[in-house]
Amino acid sequence: MTRMDFHIHSDYSDGTASLEDIVTEALRWRLEAIGIVDHVRGDADWLADRQRQIDELRGEHGDELEIFSGIEVKVRDEEGALNVLPQATEKVDFVIASFHGVPRSVEERMEGGDRDALVDWWHSCTRILLDCGHDAHILGHPDRILVDRALSVGSARMKRLVEQALASRMFLEWNPAAAYPVQPFATALAERGAPNVTYGSDAHSTSELTDALRARTDYEAGIVERGNQAFLSILREDRGDLS
Ligand SMILES: [Zn+2]
Ligand SMILES: [Zn+2]
Repeated sequence: MTRMDFHIHSDYSDGTASLEDIVTEALRWRLEAIGIVDHVRGDADWLADRQRQIDELRGEHGDELEIFSGIEVKVRDEEGALNVLPQATEKVDFVIASFHGVPRSVEERMEGGDRDALVDWWHSCTRILLDCGHDAHILGHPDRILVDRALSVGSARMKRLVEQALASRMFLEWNPAAAYPVQPFATALAERGAPNVTYGSDAHSTSELTDALRARTDYEAGIVERGNQAFLSILREDRGDLS
């Protein structure tokens, strides 16, 4: 069984664990690979400093644990653009795109009585992202923004999305913190044996990381096995290209 987690927040953004704490916990659980992911809007002046620390930890623990750097950025507008600048994405190994807030224009449509505005926005942006329109590697907690509001795209659109996701170069995250265990999109993909579902605990502390690892079932581990391996291979290749 592969043991990887590609979505762990540190105290460089809204997490409480230091990079050192995260690595210690990952080693304790004998994880093979982790992605340290922090929220970035536009660019962040601490990215270079975090990278230096990650490189040091790689030097110390690289033979036991592969450590990657990532950022989580939000989908900003109705075209699915990400709230990030190229100079930030160039500094990290991978980018997670997530639906966090709702753009003002979509909110206004909802206030104006368009009850489908949010679902329609999510649906069209997800299609754009799956087409790799914005250079993100992973779609974080894919449909949590809908699940949280008890919304759904409906079975016909979900079916087409699953087909598109199966053919996409993008990875989709199995995120236990996202309305667990109700993850319609990731579950539908898993049922199709998708090769591009990665695991991300979205832990914001070492105790959340421990809880997620403890709670991880064989079912869950099975869903993410192929995707984690495939994503790890891509990260390794990309790093090879850099050095
Ligand atoms: Zn998120
Ligand atoms: Zn997150």
